[in-house]
Amino acid sequence: MLSTMQDRPLTINSLFEHSRRVYSDSQVATFTGDTCRRASYRDVGDRAARLASALQRLGIKEGDRVGTFLWNSQEHLECYFAIPCMSAVLHTLNLRLFPEQLTYIINHAEDRVIIVDDSLAPLLARVAGDLKTVERYIVVGGGGAAVLGDVLRYEDLIAAEDGGFDWPQIDERSAAAMCYTSGTTGNPKGVVYSHRSTFLHSLAACAAFTFGFTEHDKILPIVPMFHANAWGIPYAGWMAGSDFIMPGRFLQAEPLCRLIEAERPTFTGAVPTIWNDLLRLTDTRPTDMSSLRMVICGGSAVPRSLMERFQERFGVRIIQAWGMTETSPLAAVAHPPRAAKPEDEFDWRAKTGRIRPGVALRIVDGEDVLPWDGKSIGEIEVSGPWITGAYYGDDTPEKFHGGWLRTGDVGTVDEKGFIQITDRAKDVIKSGGEWISTVELENAIMAHPDVVEAAVIGVPDDRWDERPLACVVLKEGSAATADDLRAFLSERVAKWWTPERWSFIKEVPKTSVGKFDKKVLRAQREKNELKIVEAGSKAIG
Ligand code: ADP
Repeated sequence: MLSTMQDRPLTINSLFEHSRRVYSDSQVATFTGDTCRRASYRDVGDRAARLASALQRLGIKEGDRVGTFLWNSQEHLECYFAIPCMSAVLHTLNLRLFPEQLTYIINHAEDRVIIVDDSLAPLLARVAGDLKTVERYIVVGGGGAAVLGDVLRYEDLIAAEDGGFDWPQIDERSAAAMCYTSGTTGNPKGVVYSHRSTFLHSLAACAAFTFGFTEHDKILPIVPMFHANAWGIPYAGWMAGSDFIMPGRFLQAEPLCRLIEAERPTFTGAVPTIWNDLLRLTDTRPTDMSSLRMVICGGSAVPRSLMERFQERFGVRIIQAWGMTETSPLAAVAHPPRAAKPEDEFDWRAKTGRIRPGVALRIVDGEDVLPWDGKSIGEIEVSGPWITGAYYGDDTPEKFHGGWLRTGDVGTVDEKGFIQITDRAKDVIKSGGEWISTVELENAIMAHPDVVEAAVIGVPDDRWDERPLACVVLKEGSAATADDLRAFLSERVAKWWTPERWSFIKEVPKTSVGKFDKKVLRAQREKNELKIVEAGSKAIG
């Protein structure tokens, strides 16, 4: 029996129109380094309509890809609405990719136009000669951009239009935006979000059990708008009518602290690296963060010690989330359950996250589906209306399993839906036939007060096949030794997990989205570029 409900499509157009009308006075601020320039939702809506007219005049049609090479800014938000709502496809480009990868993804997506910040024109110019489909560059800002040849200016285009745009009716299943994974192995792979997937993901992000956005929030998205749509925060925040504080290119700890004090956001999100930097700076520069009701953190495992220090120093809660570009990205959020005792709060928050409604999850080992018992370890597979079912123009059947996306993450799930990721499949260490969780080991090492960062990789071992090598960044001036750290670990992890091999490094190499790049560490070790100290007994067992 069919329902009697109407079938109005779930589109970005509908959330865009709704909020520009009912929250027309909400604000979008963009940091310029000293102060913020500000626009209302009304202004942003009007300018998005003008941008759509200008793109149409340039020949952009339904389904055409328009790239953005931008920081988090008001203009980027305008692109987030103008491009999908005119039925074209927003392709957010990661500013930190290697030139070969950038060239690959622009050519692969066949972007026709790229909207670029003037400060980034030189970076884009490095690949411009290899781009096969790009016809025009539109430059945001008044700075020089001659390196890109004969460019169009964003503000000129907007000023030349009369305002208003006849937004088309859009099928909710059509493409709205695309984002490539950062390609830790092989070429980056494209994920294409639909209007429907974006609308549903935004509702889930706004829910009280996720971010709980309302009109009273002031949102500071530090996670870049090219990294899985800034975790869906721009669309969700707009849906709720929240104010935005866009950090622009000022992503270092010092300007971020100034921005937080001046604008007093209630909500922010970024990868652990950023919060670690902020903690380090605020050792010597006290900062008032009391305005923040929630800090969302994810993209890689969030060390418990980071959450504890943040809470101690600022009285601010970091909440961990899990997801990937392929999952739009929100799939799990680690809000403690109702029954949690106050003293267990951090045990819950240190878990990877609790699965969100709309996302089906299972743990598999080969063809066996494992129980939700908090113990059985296997690969996590997910399925749902905002989970990708394929990669764009890339046939990769090995990434899917009977309609489920294979996440490449290994872990457990308990009966209440709390996930604990122990590793990425490619990072796992098997020592003497038993798994060592690099995530847990790194967490334990980073709990040491002198440790800034720690990444653990597997190295070949004659006796145990593989053993962990701990690559550690110590606080400046610290004299901690491998033996000190081993002693510290003795109460925190199983004895046979404790690494004998240690390397003290200046910085853990990071990927284009700020995660530990273990591929680089593995290569450095293979080339004998890491100075390794051996400590403790080799008779582990
Ligand atoms: P890429 O796959 O290119 O690194 P993504 O941002 O899509 O880019 O990364 C998704 C991956 O990040 C997940 O599959 C997982 O391995 C890791 N990840 C994200 N959040 C967490 C978390 N809270 N804990 C552990 N790992 C995480």
